[in-house]
Amino acid sequence: MRLLVVEDNQALGHSIASAFRAKGHAVDCVESGEDADTSLRTQPYDLVILDIGLPDLDGLEVLRRLRRRKSRVPVLMLTARDGLEDRVQGLNLGADDYLCKPFALAELEARAGALIRRGVGGEAAIIAHGRLTLDTAARLARVDGEPIDLPRRELTLLEVLLIQRGQVVAKQLLLEKLFGFEEEAGVNAVEIYVHRLRKKLEPAGVRIRTVRGLGYLLENP
Ligand code: CA
Repeated sequence: MRLLVVEDNQALGHSIASAFRAKGHAVDCVESGEDADTSLRTQPYDLVILDIGLPDLDGLEVLRRLRRRKSRVPVLMLTARDGLEDRVQGLNLGADDYLCKPFALAELEARAGALIRRGVGGEAAIIAHGRLTLDTAARLARVDGEPIDLPRRELTLLEVLLIQRGQVVAKQLLLEKLFGFEEEAGVNAVEIYVHRLRKKLEPAGVRIRTVRGLGYLLENP
């Protein structure tokens, strides 16, 4: 999944970004409201983690503009402990959740995970597909109940394909879900990950079909 982290405290922004990258998400980090606004206009995201206190445009204005464009991307606000008014205003503007600073990264991850799942059509935490199950909260895939070892990007790839199973998923979309702006990767990187994932899933009877010129399709079992 692709996340945007908007936080002017660089150290905090980086630790949030690395926590989500370690889970296999593509993460873009920006430090100002203007940059956030630009990124949100140019790139679709699955979740935005938005600090309220930012140097130029504040987070509330970024949120207001986002919702005015009718975007429904889930937004999790980060607010100061004494920022009750900000929280109320943020929720009124269409934020989905908030966390008060300081917070534990584990809590942010848990809440973010819930919002991502809700955003992708309210998928349950565990998606079953034939002999395969994927626990999207624990980031663990199993075949016949036995965990299989999937590196983080293969896991994200599987998650995207499972959520859209039975439909063709464009290579470009997969590229956007797997890699952030800072990572230079082309569609051939997607092909490599699909190839690896396909080899691991074939013994379980899970087929990822290539649809020429379009993308990939996880066939229904
Ligand atoms: Ca701030």
